[in-house]
Amino acid sequence: MLNRRTFLKTSAASLPLTSAIQALNPVGISAEAPADVAVTGTTPKLIPLPARLARVDPSTLPWQENIRRVGQSNMTEHDPAVMNIEEWADYWHSAGADVVFISVTGILAFYPSKVRFHRHGKFLNGRDFFGECVAAARKRGMRVVARMSPDLNWDDALDAHPEWAMRDADGSVLRNDEDSRLFQTCMFTSYMDEYVPAIMREINSLYDVDCFYTNGWPPIGSLPNCHCAICSKLPRSNTTAYWHAFNDRVLELWHMYDAIAKEKKPDSFYFANLGGNVRCGPNLDRLCKTAVWFQADNQGRTSDDPAVWGCSLQGRVCNAMMDGKFAANVTAAYSTGTVRWRNASKNPAEARMWLNETLASGMALYYHFIGSEAGFGEDRRWQKVGSDYFQWAKKYDAHLKPRRSLANIGVIMGQSTQLFYPAPAAAHARDYMRETTQGMYATLLNGRFAFDFVHEDRLDLERISKYRALLLPNISMLSDRQCQQIRDYVRVGGSIMASFETGLYDENLQRREEFALADLLGISKAGDVIGTNGNAYYGRIERSHPILEGFSNTNWLPGAQNRVPVKSVPDPVLTVIPGFVAYPPELAYPPASHTDEPAVVLREVASSRLAYFPGDIERTFWLTGHGDLLRLLHNTIRWITQDEAVVHVDGDGLLELFAWETTPGYAVHLLNYTNPNAHHGWLSTAYPLGPQNVSMTLPNGVKAKAVDLLRSDKTIPFRLEGSVLRFTIPRVDDYEIAAVTVG
Ligand SMILES: [Zn+2]
Repeated sequence: MLNRRTFLKTSAASLPLTSAIQALNPVGISAEAPADVAVTGTTPKLIPLPARLARVDPSTLPWQENIRRVGQSNMTEHDPAVMNIEEWADYWHSAGADVVFISVTGILAFYPSKVRFHRHGKFLNGRDFFGECVAAARKRGMRVVARMSPDLNWDDALDAHPEWAMRDADGSVLRNDEDSRLFQTCMFTSYMDEYVPAIMREINSLYDVDCFYTNGWPPIGSLPNCHCAICSKLPRSNTTAYWHAFNDRVLELWHMYDAIAKEKKPDSFYFANLGGNVRCGPNLDRLCKTAVWFQADNQGRTSDDPAVWGCSLQGRVCNAMMDGKFAANVTAAYSTGTVRWRNASKNPAEARMWLNETLASGMALYYHFIGSEAGFGEDRRWQKVGSDYFQWAKKYDAHLKPRRSLANIGVIMGQSTQLFYPAPAAAHARDYMRETTQGMYATLLNGRFAFDFVHEDRLDLERISKYRALLLPNISMLSDRQCQQIRDYVRVGGSIMASFETGLYDENLQRREEFALADLLGISKAGDVIGTNGNAYYGRIERSHPILEGFSNTNWLPGAQNRVPVKSVPDPVLTVIPGFVAYPPELAYPPASHTDEPAVVLREVASSRLAYFPGDIERTFWLTGHGDLLRLLHNTIRWITQDEAVVHVDGDGLLELFAWETTPGYAVHLLNYTNPNAHHGWLSTAYPLGPQNVSMTLPNGVKAKAVDLLRSDKTIPFRLEGSVLRFTIPRVDDYEIAAVTVG
């Protein structure tokens, strides 16, 4: 952990590199074996955990912060004709759900609404289906979320209010892709100021609900592109100027709906979907100062974004934004994906892993199915999967609810870059930053580093000084203020690893002539981005350095697909061999085999270490899986962090690690992704891992009393060497949590 006090101590000390650095011969190739692809076996320096947080009485928290399980049978127009309300309520109650979602909607009323254009579902027949469901939930002690959908309406509303519709550039009404009888409503119109509040007030006047939620608004993965009379006066969509107007409007409506929710009960509130992980539509810094429920609408993997850790990634975003406020990830029990079956169960192993990731990354469980044909579903296989999981988790609520992350590495989450960065011509912009994020994520996961996301608008020193290092994977858009915050962080001893176009744009996507962090990183731009045509560029090893540990028998290392040329630096570690022809092989040799263009720039300033890669190295690792890039990134992260870690988990397998402080003590979560379906499709079964050795250093005066494995329901032995706690988890099936109770 880094703070001003430890900075003063460490900066006064020398900076010994304890690792035995393999001597390299940059001229001749040695006869040693090539480097292994796997990067294991090093033991980091364990940093003591921070002093424990003061206890909090749960009864003093807002009610939603004590919710641990959320249930939703998403209601269809047909459900009033077929759903067995008693069976529905019994299922969620016996599973252990604390709260259920019940549909009010806005597209179709599930109660005898008198709000104009709130069309009654055709199977409602005057019945108060919503009211009956609310009563059934209340009778069993479950709280109720009133679910609305303000995104679509019918032609009678359009005829009376043509201004409510989103419109194309030619003025035509935008309609729902799947059912063209519905038009898309525009969030800048009075539909949102009048129609939605009218429904909320009607619900408040008739029923006792705990809070309100809207599905379908705000948009979460992209920004609207509307040409209605109001929107045509706004800046063009997909510009930062439009984003500001969009965020202002989202906040305006959010505050209005929240105030309406509170008209009846002061502890009621409004919330909406906020998925999209690092590429969320609304500005998360602004919105999450208001939101008290982060609804991560992140229901399952798709073939477009197939990494198994999609839910964990979302959880890290929630942890960055909510500061301990409530967050839940919606796990679809139905078959999510590019090809979908919303009324058929998905593979149980896949559904369980999404629930595992929900808990491991610090969110509350949320299980979701659509429609209740034949009473409570034609396909009921999902039900036991969910109730077994909920009931298991309920036994361990205290250990499973995190208080704070123990991670010592922060990855800057550039929401602006994710939304607006144009990317080099070689790749679609949206895919480009997704690949960059996944490359960074996979690198950290493979190295079993404990890391958090840090939002670009939350770089205040008080927040980021807990991290030994900040990573900036092509965070191309940075404001002058954000750059100054990063400089301040380095000034008190923090370390940095940055890549590619980091800081080459300001917060409004205005291109800079020079890197905004040129002074800090010791770099200077020497030209425009150079892509690959044939062989990508290489890095020539110029001298030994800890970031090259483990490489032998080669003078060259792979570079990346794209790079920004930077001016030469004294005593470089790696220099660029420019890319050249790959085919025909007759021409596959370097016209220039030696340059003075650096392929990495390293600096040391007091106890700070700074590393800059001119290439898009994280993304290139994601595209290729090249072990040299992984090793180079791991070595560099270890070098800038001076090999400090908060928790060390040694063992075989691809697993994701989370470490939390909890009320009873600590929880180390291990997600086992060692599976042929980790990067595509769904898990069908788990492939268990063998022993995992865990070490962590407890704070002064804190004693371990017990270590329990929550998935295998057993207590395991531990040993204390001074204040270092060590124990072995003998086996990990799909998921294991080592819960440390302290005294
Ligand atoms: Zn509009």
